[in-house]
Amino acid sequence: MRFDIVTLFPDFFSSPLSSGLLGKALAKEIASVHLTNPRNFTIDKHRRVDDEPYGGGVGMVMKPEPLFAAIESLPILDRREVIYLSPQGRRMDRDLLWKLATNFDQLVLLCGHYEGIDERVMNLVTQEVSLGDFVLTGGEIPALALLNGVVRLLPGTVGKSESLAAESFEDGLLDYPHYTRPAEFRGYKVPEVLLSGNHAEIARWRRQQQLQRTRDRRPDLLTDANLEEEGTNPSKG
Ligand code: SAM
Repeated sequence: MRFDIVTLFPDFFSSPLSSGLLGKALAKEIASVHLTNPRNFTIDKHRRVDDEPYGGGVGMVMKPEPLFAAIESLPILDRREVIYLSPQGRRMDRDLLWKLATNFDQLVLLCGHYEGIDERVMNLVTQEVSLGDFVLTGGEIPALALLNGVVRLLPGTVGKSESLAAESFEDGLLDYPHYTRPAEFRGYKVPEVLLSGNHAEIARWRRQQQLQRTRDRRPDLLTDANLEEEGTNPSKG
């Protein structure tokens, strides 16, 4: 999978792209990341990438010419999506990341700044994606979140494919709590069942924890089937 990030701040990505699992995946060429700075496509002597908004008002707007030129300079692979990171887009979630990881060969990620981009650039954009219902100063953090989340799903990034299946949201529930050695720390004990060696009991306990956590923290995720499994489906009396 090829990622093209169109950004005024390519340096922002240096450390995240070389750290942790993402860094390893890129070193293994599971995906490649190419950074393109629209400022390199300006033709005026001040290399301006922003200007005042028509109609007046606060802030600056990213000019269309450098953004068109930057995006049009990129290679075009078969299955390609041009994504503008924007608080007005579809919210990033598990389903979107799986779709992007499995249906595309190339993701172009356009990072906005200031008040955003000149609306005419939207003619090159195929999808708008938001990190959440809040406003950041630029699209780099959302672009990095999307890149990280998609690369994580590509075959070879995460050691065992079961690790992907065991995470929050994969079966519609939150993950169960995890513990490691020591068995007791500052008086806090690891639940007995996890030390029992009884795999069936451990699996049952973990499933109950998943259901309980989801009920406490994200009841909106619970389905009728989950409620029935828990024995709490109100529609079943
Ligand atoms: N005027 C825009 C609005 O109110 O919708 C916000 C512009 S914001 C200050 C500057 C840039 O940050 C945006 O162009 C976008 O690329 C990025 N950005 C800010 N918040 C974001 C979010 N929640 N998700 C994705 N991108 C975001």
